[in-house]
Amino acid sequence: TVKTRFAPSPTGFLHVGGARTALYSWLYARHLKGEFVLRIEDTDLERSTQEAIDAILEGMQWLGLNWEEGPYYQTERFDRYHSLIDQLLKEDKAYKCYCSRERLDGLREQQMNDGVKPRYDGHCRHSDHQHAADAPYVIRFKNPTEGTVVFDDHVRGRIETGNDQLDDLIIRRTDGAPTYNFCVVVDDWDMEITHVVRGEDHINNTPRQINIYQALGAPVPEFAHVSMILGDDGAKLSKRHGAVSVMQYRDDGYLPQALLNYLVRLGWSHGDQEVFSVEEMIELFSLDAIGKSASAFNTDKLLWLNQHYIKTLPATEVAEYLVWHMQAQGIAFEQGPSLADIVTLYGERCHTLKEMAEQSRYLFEDISEFDATAAKKHLRPVAAAPLTLVREKLAVLTEWQAAAIHEQINAAAAELELGMGKVGMPLRVAVTGAGQSPAIDGVIALLSQAQTLARIDMALA
Ligand code: GLU
Repeated sequence: TVKTRFAPSPTGFLHVGGARTALYSWLYARHLKGEFVLRIEDTDLERSTQEAIDAILEGMQWLGLNWEEGPYYQTERFDRYHSLIDQLLKEDKAYKCYCSRERLDGLREQQMNDGVKPRYDGHCRHSDHQHAADAPYVIRFKNPTEGTVVFDDHVRGRIETGNDQLDDLIIRRTDGAPTYNFCVVVDDWDMEITHVVRGEDHINNTPRQINIYQALGAPVPEFAHVSMILGDDGAKLSKRHGAVSVMQYRDDGYLPQALLNYLVRLGWSHGDQEVFSVEEMIELFSLDAIGKSASAFNTDKLLWLNQHYIKTLPATEVAEYLVWHMQAQGIAFEQGPSLADIVTLYGERCHTLKEMAEQSRYLFEDISEFDATAAKKHLRPVAAAPLTLVREKLAVLTEWQAAAIHEQINAAAAELELGMGKVGMPLRVAVTGAGQSPAIDGVIALLSQAQTLARIDMALA
């Protein structure tokens, strides 16, 4: 059975690149009814933080990328790494290296001057120099010196690397800490990962890791290296491009469904289809349809998808995500219209839930003033007659519904021989405080009769 994983280093929040990698890995497992593992690669004690771990877990949960196993933490697995390093030493597949920083720096400088790629020269691999018992050392993996490492990447095709291109990798540092390339192999082996989906920034590590699998007698998984995400200016996506943390998208008013749809299309395609529900992604996803080239982030498309999901998901489902924005903006939404009604009323007008909360605030709170421009244009001094009449007509309504409200507004306009706008606009400013809103009968239907009359009175005062 297929088993994939997402293995972030907790040195920052979950960014969109990581989220897309996680999504692809998750989708592949779901598509094949396999399992998905979350592993926190926290061996870099200096740079890993609890805050980043929490942010990653929060991002994964918000996106709905659930896992069967984990989160595992590499820092809880040091005993395992050390026992395998000891085993490699015993089997003469690894060795202690006492080379000083000065020697290594000198070597590197010389190689650079000679125009060759800097690599460790294997000085300690064969040497039987004597060292003081307390002399510091690292442990290096004995990389094979001959032959070629070959793997068939699901995205990039066949990749061959001569072992003469690889040097003896440090697998344990002077301070005793095992290194990334070693831990990742041990983990993927122990966790029985069948497919490694990760960023293409790791592609140069893969041949080295394959040599370690082989030295350990472990089966080698399959690989898919996913290309980078660029900003809309073609540069590598970074903080400069605005929201790069997944949770920032939540804060900005995006639905996870929209972000997932956006991310799946950012590098994967199925014909020219753009809109995919999560169920469809799972059904259609394959590693082999991931594109090779880097993809550029396009905020307009994400906005378009967000509105699409705001309009098409069940309003009650969207309403659950709107709660967060109501709270964030301090809107007392527990009283007043239901959030599902807000979603229905505002879906056509809003690209984000943040906008939706902002624009519907007046439905939950008394308005204290009218937008000055709108009031000047529609309220004063001409609107007393239509507002008075429409107030009278609304006051006697026994059925507080959009259609009935609409009829009363129409009737007032007809009686005064005014166009609908001459009645509707003053009414809009009076009840919403602003010159723009969804259809006014729908808005009024969400307010109570008493609130509506009170606001018209305030406008007439
Ligand atoms: N921890 C690595 C990273 O965050 C990923 C390693 C992997 O997926 O193999 O870049």
